[in-house]
Amino acid sequence: MKMHNFNSGPSILPQEVLQQASEAIINFNNTGLSLLEIGHRTNWFGEVMTEAINLVKELMQLGSDHDVLFLHGGASTQFMQVPMNLLDDGEIAAYCDNGIWGVKAIKEAKLFGNVNVVASSKDKNHSYIVKDFAVPADSKYLHYTTNNTVEGTEWHHIPETTVPLVADMSSDIFSRPFDFSKFGLIYAGAQKNMGAAGVNLVVIRKDVLGKVKRPIPSIMDYRNHIEAGSLLNTPPVFAVYVALLTLRWIKKEGGLVEMGKRAKERADLFYNTLDALPFYTPIVAREDRSLMNATFGIQQPEQEKEFLDLCKANGMVGVKGHRSVGGLRVSMYNALPLSSVEEMCKLMRHFAEKYA
Ligand SMILES: *Cc1c(COP(=O)(O)O)cnc(C)c1O
Repeated sequence: MKMHNFNSGPSILPQEVLQQASEAIINFNNTGLSLLEIGHRTNWFGEVMTEAINLVKELMQLGSDHDVLFLHGGASTQFMQVPMNLLDDGEIAAYCDNGIWGVKAIKEAKLFGNVNVVASSKDKNHSYIVKDFAVPADSKYLHYTTNNTVEGTEWHHIPETTVPLVADMSSDIFSRPFDFSKFGLIYAGAQKNMGAAGVNLVVIRKDVLGKVKRPIPSIMDYRNHIEAGSLLNTPPVFAVYVALLTLRWIKKEGGLVEMGKRAKERADLFYNTLDALPFYTPIVAREDRSLMNATFGIQQPEQEKEFLDLCKANGMVGVKGHRSVGGLRVSMYNALPLSSVEEMCKLMRHFAEKYA
């Protein structure tokens, strides 16, 4: 039996994507070879990469100003690669401190230039999004995390600024329509909403590159990857393929409009249930709640273990909060069926009645 998968990442993927990916490991497109045993410079893999890049552009509705890359490493690699390519020694970049991933990005950026933290919600454990802040015009870029996976907050608007926008979209990429054209650089580790661990999607508007004076190691220089069409060296072929299958699935299901509709349905159901049961305590400011990761607690925290045990007994996994914040978290990514949220809500009502 398939579990109800509320994992925060790596996380649930569409069942048909898993089926197709497993078939490709044995016999890729009837070549008589595994996807894992063909060269990345074959036409076979070249078509995979080209289709994946084109699908990203199509879903994001981007034109020729932007380049799409599939790069090694998780989003954490981008914490370093972004400032290495965009921020020179002595220059200033603006960063939002809205969660632990943003904090990590700030730490890495300081290795390359100066960081100006223009907005911070640290005073309340990152339980809200700071919306009113100014970005000095001499900042090289503004970096923020669109969805804070750990804390359960999400930006429901794009910040207004005159400097290039850089966003870590790891945990809400492709979950809803979005004006991607407003961004100078977007990155996302694939393992939350668009595939398997091991590959990063990076989308770059050309004009943000080529401005720093430092020498950049070849493999870290975005321009080399653009020139090579994401085939500068051996890419993580399997992770790219799973991303392609997931992108095809998103398109087939109705694209970002449909993903956004489903995300709202799931989140409305979950939060309405949460708000109707005073037994549980929401953690995040209502207007900043994430559609992807819902964080909450139980009024008597010692009951959390029993709650988690009951989840486990009912085939539900991934409900324990991140180790840095504790509590509970239900992640509701693109591939999570509404029926899993219905089961969770049923269990929450049942548990609250039992202990109230
Ligand atoms: C998971 C996550 C990361 C880290 O991704 P890795 O692939 O483990 O480096 C960074 N940012 C956000 C928003 C995330 O959700």
